[in-house]
Amino acid sequence: MTTAPFLVGEGRVERRPHAYPEPGAGQLLIRPRANALCGSDRGLFRDGSPVVAGHEAAGTVIAAGPGTAIPVGTRGVIYLMAYCGRCRSCRAGATNLCLDKAGDMGFNRDGGLGPLEVVEERMFFPIGDDLPFPLATMLLDVMGTSGAALNRALSVRPDLDSLLITGAGPVGVGVLATARLGLGADVPIYISDVSEWRLSFAESLGGTPVHAGSVADVPQVDAAVDASGRATARRSALDRLSKRGVLVCVGHGEHLRLDVSSDLISSGRAVLGSEYFPYADFPANLEILRRNADYLGRIVTHTFDVSETALAFETFLSGESGKVVVTQEDD
Ligand SMILES: [Zn+2]
Ligand SMILES: [Zn+2]
Repeated sequence: MTTAPFLVGEGRVERRPHAYPEPGAGQLLIRPRANALCGSDRGLFRDGSPVVAGHEAAGTVIAAGPGTAIPVGTRGVIYLMAYCGRCRSCRAGATNLCLDKAGDMGFNRDGGLGPLEVVEERMFFPIGDDLPFPLATMLLDVMGTSGAALNRALSVRPDLDSLLITGAGPVGVGVLATARLGLGADVPIYISDVSEWRLSFAESLGGTPVHAGSVADVPQVDAAVDASGRATARRSALDRLSKRGVLVCVGHGEHLRLDVSSDLISSGRAVLGSEYFPYADFPANLEILRRNADYLGRIVTHTFDVSETALAFETFLSGESGKVVVTQEDD
């Protein structure tokens, strides 16, 4: 029987025997080759997980169930959500807001840190043969989730000409990178955090660093994205918005209290949420990744072999890393 690494709590990783099913109708069996760690894995590392963790995986199709079209050998990335493809949200393209979702890879279905993953074919996105697997994982939360948050802001504010990002963790840095690429070199992008390491990392990617205590000194902006989840950060971001400004909350966490009259009505502002990203965003993001591989590749600061998964998590959770990617050799 194959073995898989399980997060068993208190920061420990144990390799245990684990059986994987054959891919059923409409399913693919994937050999993950790289999986990026994410802030949303933090609780699994601390408390343990009954399924194999990992939801930002890239790998190769090694077997295909009946009724599939993607050939064995195809390289690609795996979408987090087992969306249904039929509900009103899915039909509108909002697969990230599926009304009949069957599960989430790495949270309640075996994920990308394991030797195998069974996924619905519609969750797999082929990437071609040119991109290294660790770089390809940038298509998931870094570009996908961050790009979708930026698109939410642009949906309200198409003339967006200045941006504030609160939180310079991986999602915040992803928003910075996608905004720098999408909005151009001249648009001011302020990014705040409490960590000096993260601020200098963000500065190296083209952001204007702001210490979290000094956000009130930032000039007014057209849009803000909160990637911190903190109430104080959301509040300070909202306070920096100009008239018609929009705050997009992409980091889960604490509350935001609104004085509706002054915060929203008289200023014409909007506050939006943004969860993951539509599957249909992949093709455009793949082109952006191909054109900007060197720049976006700088977001991956560390890679570890899967045998060093615990060390990979410790490095990621140290707060002094960009994305940390766990890799698996082909065998
Ligand atoms: Zn993630
Ligand atoms: Zn659906």
